[in-house]
Amino acid sequence: MTDRAVLIGLDGATFATLDPLMGEGVMPFLKEFLASGVRSELLSVIPPLTPPGWASLVTGRTPGNHGVMDFFRFESPDSRYIRLVDSRDVKCETIWSIISRQGLKATVLNFPLMTPPRPMSGNAVPGWAPWKHLPRLCSPQELYDKIKAVPGFNVQELAMDLQLEGKAIEGSSKEEYEDWIHLHIRREKQWFEILRYLMQEDPCDLTAILFDGIDKLQHLLWRFIDPDCVPTHPSGWERRIRDLCLDYFRQLDGLIAETVAMAGPEASVFLASDHGFGPSTEIFYINAWLHRQGYLEWAAGAIEDTSDAGRLGLGMISRSPSMVDWSRTTAYGLTPSSNGVHIAVAGRRGQHGIDLKEYERVRSVLMDQLYQLTDPATGGRLVTQIRTREEAFLGTRMDMAPDLTLSIRDGGFVSILKSDVVLKPRPEVVGTHRPEGVFMARGPGIRQGRSLPALSIIDVAPTLVHSLGLPVPSDLEGRVAAQIFEPASFQARPIRVGEPTQVPEPFPQRRDRKEDKEGEAQVLERLKQLGYVE
Ligand SMILES: [Zn+2]
Repeated sequence: MTDRAVLIGLDGATFATLDPLMGEGVMPFLKEFLASGVRSELLSVIPPLTPPGWASLVTGRTPGNHGVMDFFRFESPDSRYIRLVDSRDVKCETIWSIISRQGLKATVLNFPLMTPPRPMSGNAVPGWAPWKHLPRLCSPQELYDKIKAVPGFNVQELAMDLQLEGKAIEGSSKEEYEDWIHLHIRREKQWFEILRYLMQEDPCDLTAILFDGIDKLQHLLWRFIDPDCVPTHPSGWERRIRDLCLDYFRQLDGLIAETVAMAGPEASVFLASDHGFGPSTEIFYINAWLHRQGYLEWAAGAIEDTSDAGRLGLGMISRSPSMVDWSRTTAYGLTPSSNGVHIAVAGRRGQHGIDLKEYERVRSVLMDQLYQLTDPATGGRLVTQIRTREEAFLGTRMDMAPDLTLSIRDGGFVSILKSDVVLKPRPEVVGTHRPEGVFMARGPGIRQGRSLPALSIIDVAPTLVHSLGLPVPSDLEGRVAAQIFEPASFQARPIRVGEPTQVPEPFPQRRDRKEDKEGEAQVLERLKQLGYVE
């Protein structure tokens, strides 16, 4: 019998919320799982975002090489315009493809960057796909006819639906929060039902499912989930929202328990997140600061922030280059999610900008100024760390990366909108990403009840490949997490190094513009609702 592995992705999971939930008895299975398995923090990439996080996890490569650095990418190396990333932007081989080439099969459910589909053996139902297009985006395509017969199947709730998600969280009224949580409880159950069906009907060597509700709930409802934020004297409504959030986690715990039970005692089970989470309490307007310092001039049509949330309206993100007067701009933030600052170099993305000979000097002055930027109220630094592109994105795709990537004291994302202030408190605490995610594992040969030092997200793919009994491709940047295994069992099965990965083939045909535009609009709406685009 071959080795089997299960990967349960928990989007945005952090021990900061999971530990209290386990302590309070909301997630009893997870607690039991860890008592007989291992845990560690899983350090995400920079920036700790969903697309680069999952791309790194499933390729074992860093963003500078696989090329996914944000929700967005430049349309081409010489363009200032941006579009959403998809599977074509993942320039390194995924674990699904690595194991398929070696004769193994995978089931992959709800992972991002799976469209358009790439060849693999097994079954894939993509995440982040508009429901209308889901039938043609499953792999193999006939898979859709099978999953639609699964009891309770509702494609609009399973995939992305603009109206449904919009309806659930427009504004902030009580009923809408409740709908949002219920929607995600139903969605996780649906993905689980598809998983159950496929694990029974077509068991695969590697079964991977991504539950993404943790991320969705934490973005909006952090103040009801983090014990440090929960009000000491909650109103009846606040208590109800908190209880519903707990119900989501309780039900998720049940789905994880059933998945692990179906996998059986012989399977290695891994739980991993793409990034962690934490609170955000303020908004830093990076372009407003660059404007004050003389680096950026606004174009006539620049959008002023009137939302109190630092958010950019639907669809505006792809037009963000038109907010800037390029003839008078030398540095700018292009997307809020990347926390990136680009330096305009003449000839790089247009005629205007600094002379290339000035680049090192300008970048170093800008870094000094950013480090000196303080909160006038407290004197504390706003920018806690700045990484150059060589530090954050060294690799074959570095030319697509921002020149500087900022970590801000709030831990959150910058706003790129026009604003008359540089720093503004948020009206209420929201959840935002942190690099520290979670890793948990249990199975034959895996140590029991151990809490281990942090792993890197790029270690997950080689560890999975090794657990499946396959040689680990020689060019993965991550390494097998040897410390999770009992020394004797690890020695009995040492790491085998195999051939390097294969570069994914370019897609043969051009994309269908109309359908893609619809899909993009839906993704952008989801990002806006979640507060990513802010
Ligand atoms: Zn995520």
